[in-house]
Parts: sequence; C-alpha cells; structure tokens
Amino acid sequence: MTYVVPDNPADATPADLDTVAQQLGRLPRGVVGIAARCACGRPLVVRTAPRLPDGTPFPTTYYLTHPKAMAAASTLEQAGVMKEMSARLLEDEDLAAAYLRAHESYLADREALGHVDEIDGISAGGMPTRVKCLHVLMAHALARPGVNPLGEETLKLAEPLWSKDSCVC
Ligand SMILES: [Zn+2]
Repeated sequence: MTYVVPDNPADATPADLDTVAQQLGRLPRGVVGIAARCACGRPLVVRTAPRLPDGTPFPTTYYLTHPKAMAAASTLEQAGVMKEMSARLLEDEDLAAAYLRAHESYLADREALGHVDEIDGISAGGMPTRVKCLHVLMAHALARPGVNPLGEETLKLAEPLWSKDSCVC
C-alpha cells in the first residue's frame, strides 16, 4: 500500500499511517497528524484535514481509529448513553454551556487547519446541543483532554471495556 505523506509529517509518520490503515481496514484519507496515541505509541485518534483530497468537506477533525476504543464507544451507544446525555443537556445549564464551549473549541481547532464554507459553524458528534456519536466525543476527549465534558464522561464509562491508560493493541 502507498500513502501520501502529509505536508507536515512531524507527528504522522508513514509507519503511523500504515497502522491507521490496519486499524480502519482502509487507506486513511486527509490525515494531517496524530492527535492522540496509545501508551505504546500507536495512533488512537487522527487529525484530519477539513477537506479531503477529493474535495469532500470533512467535519470530523478528530477521528477515532483504535478498534477496541471504537468497539467500546459502539457498546455505550447501544446501551442508550447518547439519549441519556442528550436529555441531560436540556436540563443542566452548566453542562450545556461546557458542551457549547467544546463545540467552539472543536471549530477553532478545525479552522486552524483551513476554512471550508460548506461546514462553517458545524462541528461533529451532535455538538453543541445533542449527542449523536460517542466515537466523535471520545476522540475529542483523547485529543483535547479536559475540553469536552461528555467526551470525558464517555472515556470514564468506557473504562471497563477500554482505557487509554493501558495498551491493549
Ligand atoms: Zn497500544
């Protein structure tokens, strides 16, 4: 397999991209860096350009790639965690405010990689008012510790299944 090495390969080596391809089962597209790594050094989250090489807008700047972390997020989704979190956003003003700040931080991080009109103001995962994807929230919390309260909760809830603190690669 061959890869396009990012313009700034400082934190995404060809070996990293090879690992990501194995994790995803396909060639990674638009990867500009590794946003979080396992204790063993393998990628957990990739940083992706806001526009893919084929021109497609790509809002999910932080994309979870680790199979066991992805499986843990899927298990939590199936258990109804997203519905429960979305409901709490309607009742808890402090939580809603923190989640809005997470949304704004996400947009600022993406804007730093380039402006894409089609996704202007749109972040990912249901932010800022809903929870629609725990994979997105988990990736955000791994890439930007402390920024996303529901991402942090997702990491905690996932711990019996998967934890960033112990390598299970
Ligand atoms: Zn590992």
